[in-house]
This record gives sequence, structure tokens and C-alpha cells, in this order.
Amino acid sequence: AVGVLAVVGRPNVGKSTLVNRILGRRAAVVEDTPGVTRDRVSYDAEWAGTDFKLVDTGGWEADVEGIDSAIASQAQIAVELADAVIFVVDGQTGLTQTDERIVRMLRSAGKPVTVAVNKIDDQISEYMAAEFWKLGLGEPYPISAMHGRGVGDLLDQAVNEM
Ligand code: GDP
Ligand code: MG
Repeated sequence: AVGVLAVVGRPNVGKSTLVNRILGRRAAVVEDTPGVTRDRVSYDAEWAGTDFKLVDTGGWEADVEGIDSAIASQAQIAVELADAVIFVVDGQTGLTQTDERIVRMLRSAGKPVTVAVNKIDDQISEYMAAEFWKLGLGEPYPISAMHGRGVGDLLDQAVNEM
């Protein structure tokens, strides 16, 4: 069976943009409005000769009721079914309390996690990834899902852990 790589993170950090970048096509829905990907959606993907399932998830808002908590449980299910996880954070916004709640969920799941610090669109912004070392999940990878910067290094790491 092929490995499963899940992409999780709070709404609007760029998960679906990253999934499209990895697939090399616009399959996942990208929206300026948070919470557009309600469910988890699985795609066939390949990196450096390795085939895997890539799972896009809805955003994570652990403290809200109704539809948002349904989205959160889809993300949690995706992690439980995954062999490895890409945890996407927003390098322009910085670390939020929601990010920290997701980290607690990821820790209890015990899957290998690679941290992708997205929206680092140019080299001068790369230093902004450093604050995410304090998550305790290892090296934060600065990426721009929109422009493709850093995505190769991120995938080398994430697929290797799968
Ligand atoms: P999701 O909710 O986490 O799936 O986020 P989306 O992929 O739908 O993206 C949310 C917003 O962030 C959209 O307006 C994207 O165009 C924007 N975005 C995604 N990746 C980047 C990036 O690398 N740089 C910048 N500047 N914006 C991005
Ligand atoms: Mg999305």
C-alpha cells in the first residue's frame, strides 16, 4: 500500500494552495474565505519516484461549535489515517493559539510531523520561520506554496518520514 501524507493547519494558511503545488494542477479549492475545504479530500501524488496519497483537510478551529468543529474532526481523522503529516502555519501571521492547539493534537497522535511555514514569498522573509522552532516539532521549513519556493526541500523531508 502507498503511504498517506496529510496536510493540516488552521484555515487560510495555504493548505490547498500547497496541495495544488504538489499535484502540479489546480485540484484542491483555494479560497480567500477561511474554511472552504470542509472535508478531507485525497489525491494521488508522486515525489522523487515515491507514490503516495496526499490528503487536504479543512481548517482547524478547535474551540468553535457546529460546522467548524466538524472540520476539526475531519482534520483529526486525516491525521489518524496518515503515515506522516505536513503541519502548515502562516509565516506572515506568526504563531497563534490555534496553532498551539493543533500541535497538542499532533503530539497525541504520534505521527511524524514536518512544519511548513507558508507565505514566505521571498528570501528576506525567511528569518520569520525561525520562531516556529519553539513548537518543538523540529526544523521549520520556509515555503511559498503560491510561488513554489522551498516546496522541494519540504517534500524531501515529509516523504522521507512517511
Ligand atoms: P487553506 O484554507 O489553508 O486551504 O488556504 P488556501 O490554500 O485556500 O489559501 C488561503 C489564502 O492564502 C488564499 O488567498 C491564497 O492565495 C493565499 N496563499 C496561499 N499560499 C500563499 C503563499 O505562499 N503566499 C501568499 N502570499 N499567499 C498565499
Ligand atoms: Mg483549503
